[in-house]
Amino acid sequence: MDAHSKKSSNVVWHHSTVTRQRREALNGHNSAVLWFTGLSGAGKSTLAHAVEEELYLVGCRTFVFDGDNVRHGLCADLGFASADRVENIRRVGEMSKLFIEAGVIALTAFISPFRSDRERVRSLMPHGDFLEIFCRCSLEVCEQRDVKGLYKRARAGEIKDFTGISSPYEEPDDPELVVETDVLTMEECVAKVMQMLRDRGIVWQQGTNAHD
Ligand code: ADP
Repeated sequence: MDAHSKKSSNVVWHHSTVTRQRREALNGHNSAVLWFTGLSGAGKSTLAHAVEEELYLVGCRTFVFDGDNVRHGLCADLGFASADRVENIRRVGEMSKLFIEAGVIALTAFISPFRSDRERVRSLMPHGDFLEIFCRCSLEVCEQRDVKGLYKRARAGEIKDFTGISSPYEEPDDPELVVETDVLTMEECVAKVMQMLRDRGIVWQQGTNAHD
C-alpha cells in the first residue's frame, strides 16, 4: 500500500439521490475542471479569475482553486520538494473531483510542473471532464514580469526547487487548449477558453456583455 492508498477498510461510498446530472440540469451548464498549468507568472491565476468572471456573467457556478490559497489551509503542511508537490496536486485533484460531482466548474491555477501528476488527476475524472489548459509563456517573459519577485530570489539562490530555474517544468503533450499568454491579450485568452467551453457543450449560454 502506498502513502496515497485508502487506509480505512470499513468505509462505504454513500450515493446521493441528487446526482451530478440533476445538479447540472438545475444549473443550466455542465461541470468540468479547467486545469491551468504553466510557469510561475505565466498568467494562470489571472486567467482563471478572468474566466470565472466571464462565467459568472453568464450564470455559471464556479470556484477557483489557487496555488497560494490552498497552501494556506488544505495543503499548509506541504512544501515544494517533489513529494510534497505530488501530494499537493493529488489533494487538489480529489477536491476538484468533488466539485465536479457538485455541478461546479472548478478552475485550478497550479504550476503542476510534472506531467505524471497532471495525468494522475486526469485519470481520476470521467473522460472529458479534465480540461488541461497550458498557459504557454516563455521563461524570459515570466522572469520579466516577476509578479511576486520570486524569480529574482530564486536566481539569488534564496529559493530552492523553483520551477523553471532549479526544478523542471514538463510541458503538456496534448493539452485540451494552449493559450500563449506572452503573445495574446488577456481578453483573447479568455475568449479562447470560453470558446472551448462552448465547443465542448459545457457552457451554452451566450455572453451578456454585462461588464459595466
Ligand atoms: P501565475 O498564476 O501563472 O503565477 P499570475 O496570474 O499571478 O501568474 O501573473 C501573471 C501576470 O501576467 C499578471 O500580472 C498578468 O496581468 C500578466 N499578463 C499579461 N498578459 C497576460 C495574459 N495574456 N494572460 C494572463 N496574464 C497576463
